[in-house]
Amino acid sequence: MDEIDANYAAVQARVAGAAHRAGRHPADVTLVAVSKAQPFERLAALYAAGHRDFGENRIPAASAVVARANAALDPQRQIRWHFIGHIQSRKAGDVAADFSVLHAVDSLHLAEKLNREAEALGRTLTVMVQCNVSGEASKFGVAADRWHNDPAQFAQVRALVLAIDALPRLRLVGLMTMAPIVPEPEQARPVFVSLRGLRDALCEAGPHLTLTELSMGMTDDFEVAIEEGATIVRVGRALFGERLSN
Ligand SMILES: *Cc1c(COP(=O)(O)O)cnc(C)c1O
Repeated sequence: MDEIDANYAAVQARVAGAAHRAGRHPADVTLVAVSKAQPFERLAALYAAGHRDFGENRIPAASAVVARANAALDPQRQIRWHFIGHIQSRKAGDVAADFSVLHAVDSLHLAEKLNREAEALGRTLTVMVQCNVSGEASKFGVAADRWHNDPAQFAQVRALVLAIDALPRLRLVGLMTMAPIVPEPEQARPVFVSLRGLRDALCEAGPHLTLTELSMGMTDDFEVAIEEGATIVRVGRALFGERLSN
């Protein structure tokens, strides 16, 4: 799997380049390797190269990958598993059992369910709130396309964030977004700027919120996202090649 090693080195170099352009430290950006719909051998190759953050987006396929990795690859449970997709309420138990970082929490109902599942499992889950800052109808996430000039919308996002922050088994660390699919990565920049602005505004409005993480940027736009403050990028194809399916 020399190809995976080469991809890994190239992506790391691009992460570092983007961080430096923004006057940031590359170590402040976590690279989540999105292994969904990839042959297991590719995940194994990246693990062998030393990588430990992996992302999946769909139950039950995601649970199967975690189980296989636990058995075949990772007996000491060193992998940090990120659930990056939308979570259906009825799958909350599976997600809480197998994943430690949840990027796409987008309702209080779901957060409360996750909190109960985490309690039953005796674990604490790290979560982010998915925000739909682009306003695309096809995107999940709390509506946040007009947060800067619509006080009611901002208040709704804030209420959700504060309610989630108060749940004892969830550790809220930041926000996540998905940019629209656009021909040029540069066109995604305003979406990333907006998520960072929303994070800053929420922290200013307080009280006691520490939203240090911004999960934004994928294969086509992660460098722009890092330039705009991403602390977590979710990269699949640039590391693993094309997926077997969607
Ligand atoms: C699939 C997926 C990614 C990775 O996409 P690539 O374009 O392969 O980098 C990132 N985030 C989410 C939420 C995804 O579903």
